[in-house]
Amino acid sequence: MENLVNLSYIAAAILFVFGIKMLGHADTARKGNQISSIGMALAIIVTLLSQGLDYKLVLGGIAVGSVIGFIAAKRVQMTGMPELVALFNGFGGLASLLVGWAEYQRASHTTLAGLDIAKVETFTAAVIVLAILIGGITFTGSLYAWGKLSGKLGGRALTFGGQKAFNALLALGIIVAGVIFTLAPTAELAYPMLIAVIVLALLLGIFAVMPIGGGDMPVVISLLNSCSGLAACAAGFVIANNVLIVAGCLVGASGLILTIIMCKAMNRTLVNVLFSGFGATSQATGSASTGEMKPVSVEDAYYILEAARNVIVIPGYGMAVAQAQHAVKELGEVLEANDCEVRFAIHPVAGRMPGHMNVLLAEADVPYEQLVEMDDVNPTIEMVDVAIVIGANDVVNPAAADDPASPIYGMPIINAHKAKTTFCLKRGKGAGFSGLENALFTAPNSRMIYGDAKATVSGLVAQFKDS
Ligand code: NDP
Repeated sequence: MENLVNLSYIAAAILFVFGIKMLGHADTARKGNQISSIGMALAIIVTLLSQGLDYKLVLGGIAVGSVIGFIAAKRVQMTGMPELVALFNGFGGLASLLVGWAEYQRASHTTLAGLDIAKVETFTAAVIVLAILIGGITFTGSLYAWGKLSGKLGGRALTFGGQKAFNALLALGIIVAGVIFTLAPTAELAYPMLIAVIVLALLLGIFAVMPIGGGDMPVVISLLNSCSGLAACAAGFVIANNVLIVAGCLVGASGLILTIIMCKAMNRTLVNVLFSGFGATSQATGSASTGEMKPVSVEDAYYILEAARNVIVIPGYGMAVAQAQHAVKELGEVLEANDCEVRFAIHPVAGRMPGHMNVLLAEADVPYEQLVEMDDVNPTIEMVDVAIVIGANDVVNPAAADDPASPIYGMPIINAHKAKTTFCLKRGKGAGFSGLENALFTAPNSRMIYGDAKATVSGLVAQFKDS
């Protein structure tokens, strides 16, 4: 029986690995998701059947969870995905915390009832502490990140004097309580120490995410995702469940790889992201742009586009808000029909989650070959006739390249300001996610096309079709 269970777990793990691999490309991502889901279903069914549990309770839990998950997934807008991911991470962390806590309760309860001398071994005690510690930080950290991303708690970094020392004290408290618990998990002092670890970990989650804000939030979400995996891995050791250990490691490792990729995309180190308090002082230190924004009508923009032979589209968060991706695809088609080369330049942190723009453009069936990465488009951007910036702001802010006083200085951007002409589509004078002003909008070669991105792009398409 045990062999059968472990064989099924190996099959589930293989499905996870192939699923994750396929998630790496937009055209195979949907299938990868399905394959991973099959692996997870297999792991859940085998685990449940091998445990001899009270299935009424389990089925009730699955039913409630499935209904909530289904409704949440159906109702969430693409722009709300990062918040949903933050919640998923948070509840993953909470689940690991509860598994660790419950396992300790179960073991110590058995001892008290005198049924068996159920000792909590040092190793088990250590992994219980890890599951609770990482799970607790992930839970409150993710809820706080959710609050920031959804705008309920303000998106900015919040700092106060002595913040780092306070966080260090919290961490020290966790280490001391955790070590005391681990060394003597059956002593009288053990349970209060465990409760102390829980409370301090929950607090540390909040205070660790508090000083992070602005453009660093995606990195934090990705890091918390990795933490939720590590917490699950620790919980897997607590209950000696191999597939939970493997799945936790996979989530932990892939989340960490993504975190590192994102740090590189912003040209920041992880330490700088976590501890620099980016975004707390953006308004104060970012240099204000001085020139004037020059608006242009859709009709006039059409004449310039009509003559263009080489266009790049740079989408950003505003395209997601406007749900303009289908209209954008149509614009690409009419431009191509007009003998113009069209490419879509994707910045790694455009939008509000990694791969946000890729997902939207894939949904609209924009050919994968037309998507180009920032590093491929920048070297030749001076040759581009028109760059159309659709609801992007921070990811095309030249201050990142040429203003050392700017908080985003050093973050790689798509050099839209170097194209021969740049159209910037946005509703008004709203700032980007980081709250900084953007000199691109006042650059001599830039023209603003005000209005909702979908209406503007549809207007441009209509001009081409009517001509
Ligand atoms: P930004 O958030 O910097 O800018 C979006 C722009 O879109 C705004 O200036 C806004 O201007 C405009 N806009 C909003 N709604 C519409 C609409 N309906 N039609 C037209 N324009 C609209 O977006 P970017 O994509 O350039 O940058 C992403 C930022 O988010 C970066 O700072 C990044 O670090 C951060 N971030 C990224 C995450 C990720 O993983 N990708 C996750 C979390 C944060 P106006 O109001 O005037 O219309």
